Amino acid sequence: MNIIGKNHIGHRLSSKSNETLKIINPETNTENSNIFYEATLEEVSEAANLAHSAFITFRNISGPQRARFLNKIADNILKLDNKLIESYKEESGLTEARAINERARTIFQLRSFAELIHNNNWRESIIEEAEPKRIPNPKPDLRKTQIPLGPVVVFGSSNFPLAYSTAGGDTASALASGCPVIVKAHEMHLKTSSLVAQAIIEAAQETGMPDGVFSHIIGRGKTVGTALVKHPRVKAVGFTGSISGGRALFDLAAQRPEPIPVFAEMGSINPVVITGKALKKRYKKIAEMYANSITQGTGQFCTNPGLILTMESDNTSDFIRELAKQVSKIPSQCMLHPNIKARYEQLTQDIKTANDLQIVTDIKNANKPNYADALIATVSGKTFLNHSKLHQEIFGPFSLVVRVANNNELLAIIEDLEGQLTGTIMAEQEEYPDLPPLIDALQNRVGRLIFNGVPTGVEVCAAMQHGGPYPASSDSRFTAVGVHSIKRWVRPVSYQSFPKELLPENLKQHE
Ligand code: NAP
Repeated sequence: MNIIGKNHIGHRLSSKSNETLKIINPETNTENSNIFYEATLEEVSEAANLAHSAFITFRNISGPQRARFLNKIADNILKLDNKLIESYKEESGLTEARAINERARTIFQLRSFAELIHNNNWRESIIEEAEPKRIPNPKPDLRKTQIPLGPVVVFGSSNFPLAYSTAGGDTASALASGCPVIVKAHEMHLKTSSLVAQAIIEAAQETGMPDGVFSHIIGRGKTVGTALVKHPRVKAVGFTGSISGGRALFDLAAQRPEPIPVFAEMGSINPVVITGKALKKRYKKIAEMYANSITQGTGQFCTNPGLILTMESDNTSDFIRELAKQVSKIPSQCMLHPNIKARYEQLTQDIKTANDLQIVTDIKNANKPNYADALIATVSGKTFLNHSKLHQEIFGPFSLVVRVANNNELLAIIEDLEGQLTGTIMAEQEEYPDLPPLIDALQNRVGRLIFNGVPTGVEVCAAMQHGGPYPASSDSRFTAVGVHSIKRWVRPVSYQSFPKELLPENLKQHE
């Protein structure tokens, strides 16, 4: 039996249940040989209680010490070398280049948070000294800082087995803030997740972190995830995945006797507006750019451009034909899992019932069970406005080109859209004076605005906003990418009239 198939309850391995599961290799459509033990409810409770005990110590461990822990996690992940890359490939169907790229992103994120917490500036502390002589009332000494919430449960995403999973952005930011983490492993990449979990546990032991600072729980279906979110010792949740999953966990957390925050990053169709002038000047270039963006990673990105709003012009039909042509040149690729492929097939079938919708691609390249052919459809603005089903995310290499009749229709469509991660404008310089109403409408629906580019490719940096109005994310005030994502796991506390000796270090004096 392979030891990596067990749950990690803090520093120890545990397999109390007789229920086991195996992972599908989507490329070969066969089961991989590793066996994984599902956690029992008792094990869930042990992990949550241990995380609570660890929190008492961990929250007071200095920033530089926590930074050492994060850097050691990064070192240990790199030491996994090919073993990790091979496991990633056999569980996700994604390429080696993508695996290496995503590992680099994971390491970069861990090291960025380590750098952030070397000093306390990220806590945005405020010191207002007393004004005893203020008239009519004296002002007390008041000092505010940020403290960690407590144990965080992270539901890793299926589409980023490294960068947004076990040691991904949610875990790195929560550990950086001083919160212990319990990862609910994503059942589509359990071996990859378990290897990374082992790397985290070893880093915790090597840097003297308390037992329970990290646990890794395996479970299929809703039982384990539900028990984790409901556990009274858990104080916040990070999630990346479907709207239905994120919403279910959000509702569950809100119904607890003590409601807790859920930071869920869910569906998005990422509208792209292409003006008539942009089409006239460069429809071929735009079509090529978007064919690549739509099919990148088999379209399995939260920032996939699923909705292209073209202004009706002499070149709209040329653009649509060119997009279909460029997309058909790109070889079909593997999807993450048979279930994700089945859902893609189902949703692309479902939309065909909308009147005046046309499928403009006829690609039949997919020669293996979990490979997906890209699909481009077009529809009028009027039909789009009247069919809410067309506003749904279709996870995969799909995009809907809407032929928008005029500016009023464009603004009505944008206003009617659900919240989105991104909104893109493809336009020419001579149109700048006309764009403010469009920019205003888009920024009201999205978290990130892009000009003359594509929404795929999310830079990891402090100026990035990855989150938007619901359902793009459950709380549009926060980002899931970049160092500011740490703000999700802390809360402000003020100290009034406190003697200096009793204040936290970072509030003792102005830096
Ligand atoms: P998912 O079904 O939302 O699952 C994500 C994680 O949440 C899994 O660990 C899952 O556990 C857990 N979960 C979901 N619903 C739950 C509930 N009601 N109670 C407790 N736990 C729950 O996402 P997925 O499996 O990654 O992919 C399914 C679909 O989600 C895709 O086809 C796609 O449409 C969408 N998706 C979107 C994005 C995006 O970035 N926009 C990313 C990934 C997926 P179990 O697996 O054990 O049930």
